[in-house]
Amino acid sequence: MALESLNPATGEVLETFDEWSDEQVATTIEAVHGAYQNWRTTSFAERKSLLLKAAVILRQRKDEFATMMALEMGKPVVEGRAEIEKCALVCNYYAENAEQMLAPEPIASDASRSYVAFRPQGIVLAVMPWNFPFWQVFRFAAPALMAGNVGVLKHASNVPRCALAIEQVFVEAGYPADVFRTLMIGSGKVAQVIEHPYVVATTLTGSDIAGRKVAEKSGAMLKKSVMELGGSDPFIVLNDADLDLAASVAVTARCINSGQSCIAAKRFIVEDGIYETFLEKFKANMAALKMGDPCDETTQVGPQAREDLMRELHRQVEGSVAKGAKVILGGMPGEAAFYPPTILTQVSKGMPAYNEEFFGPVAIVIRVKDAEEALFVANDTEFGLGGSVWTRDIIKGEKIAGEIRSGAVFVNSMTKSDPRLPFGGVGISGFGRELSHYGIKEFVNIQTVWIQ
Ligand code: NDP
Repeated sequence: MALESLNPATGEVLETFDEWSDEQVATTIEAVHGAYQNWRTTSFAERKSLLLKAAVILRQRKDEFATMMALEMGKPVVEGRAEIEKCALVCNYYAENAEQMLAPEPIASDASRSYVAFRPQGIVLAVMPWNFPFWQVFRFAAPALMAGNVGVLKHASNVPRCALAIEQVFVEAGYPADVFRTLMIGSGKVAQVIEHPYVVATTLTGSDIAGRKVAEKSGAMLKKSVMELGGSDPFIVLNDADLDLAASVAVTARCINSGQSCIAAKRFIVEDGIYETFLEKFKANMAALKMGDPCDETTQVGPQAREDLMRELHRQVEGSVAKGAKVILGGMPGEAAFYPPTILTQVSKGMPAYNEEFFGPVAIVIRVKDAEEALFVANDTEFGLGGSVWTRDIIKGEKIAGEIRSGAVFVNSMTKSDPRLPFGGVGISGFGRELSHYGIKEFVNIQTVWIQ
C-alpha cells in the first residue's frame, strides 16, 4: 500500500510514499524507546529551550507549511498560516507552563511527608487526522514532550508530506534523535503499534469509527487512550440575540477549514421570533463566501480534503432532501473535491442532517418555538463536543450553557480551542482532555510518594 499526496483542488497526484514494513515499524519503536531512556531524565529547562526553538522554526517556515497543507488537503493558505501560528503558540504555552503544571503537589497525610509526583511513562502513539494536519499533532506533542514522554505519529494517509515535515521541525529544533518519529503507515498497521510493549498509551483525533477501533485495541492491551472524535455542535440563536453578529460569526463557525472541523457549528437552532431575519442574513453571508484555489490569498472556502469525503457529504445532503429537507443555498458538488457553502432548512429528526455529523460547509438550520425546545434539540444527539448560545441576556445564556451536554460551551462566541482551556468531548465525541493542565496530565504516571 502506498501513502498518496494528492491535490484535492485538481486531482493531481503530487507524490507517493511506500508504506513501511513491519520491521521498519518495530525498529523505529525500539529506537524511540531508546531515546526515551535519556529524554525522561532531561530537565524542564532543557525541554523548554527545545520546544521554544520548535516554535521559532514553525514561525519561520509558516508560508511553506501553509502551502504544503493547501496542496495536500486544500486548506486556504490564509487559514494555514493561522494554524501554524497556533502550533507555535501551543509550543510557547507548554514550554512556559509545563514545569509549574507538573510540579510535585505536597498533600498532608499521616506520613511525615507525602506528595504527588507526575512521572513520564514512555511512548505515546498519536493517530491523527488530515483536517488540521499540523495543529492536531502539536496539540498532542507539545505537552507530551514537555512531560518527558516521547511520541510516534501515525498521520492520516492523505497528508504524508505534512507528517514528514512535522518530524523535521523537531529535528531542526535540535531534539535528540528519535524523541519524536513519524511512522509512514496506513491504518492497517495501527493495531500492531498499540500491541508493542514499548508503546504505553494512544491518542486519536478523528471519526468515532476510527476511535472505537483504536480505543478497543488500547483497552484490550490495557493502555490508556484519549479520544477526540466528531461533533455535531449546536449554535443556538435566541430571539434577543445580536443577529448581525450571530449571522456573521455563524458563517465562520460553520465554514472554517472549508467546514471540516470537529468543533464547527453544524446545527443552527433558531428561535421562531427571529428565524426569518436570521436566515436571511446568514444566507447572504454564506452566499458571499469565495470558494476557489486554496493557494489564492482571497479564497475563503477550498476544496474538501478528499473527493470521497465530498461525495459522502453530498450523499448526506441528498439523503436529507429525500426525507423532506430543503436546500436554500448550494447543494451541488463542483469540480474535483469542491463543495459549495450550502444551507439546509426544514430539517427534522430521522434525517441524516439531524442525526449525523456533516463534515463540510453545509449548515443545518432548525426552527424551534422557544429556548426550551432549543435546548432539547441541542442535546438530542449522541455527540457532545462543543456548542454556542446567542442571547443578550448573559444570565439566561449561562444557564442554557450549563444544560448543554458537551465538553465546551460558548456564550455569544463560536466554539474554539485555546491552549489555556481544556478541549474534549462527552458521549460519542470521545473522552479525555487535551490542552491546559488537564491535557498534560493525561499520559503521566500520577505517582503517590509517602515518606514515613
Ligand atoms: P478517520 O477517522 O478514518 O481518520 C483519522 C485517523 O484515524 C487517520 O490517521 C486514519 O488513518 C486513522 N484510522 C482510520 N481508521 C482506523 C482504524 N480502523 N484503525 C486505526 N486507525 C484508523 O477519518 P476519515 O479521513 O475517514 O474521515 C471520515 C470522517 O471522520 C469525516 O468525514 C469526519 O466526520 C470525521 N473526522 C473527524 C475529525 C475530527 O477532527 N474529529 C477529523 C477527521 C475526520 P488513515 O488515514 O490511514 O485511514
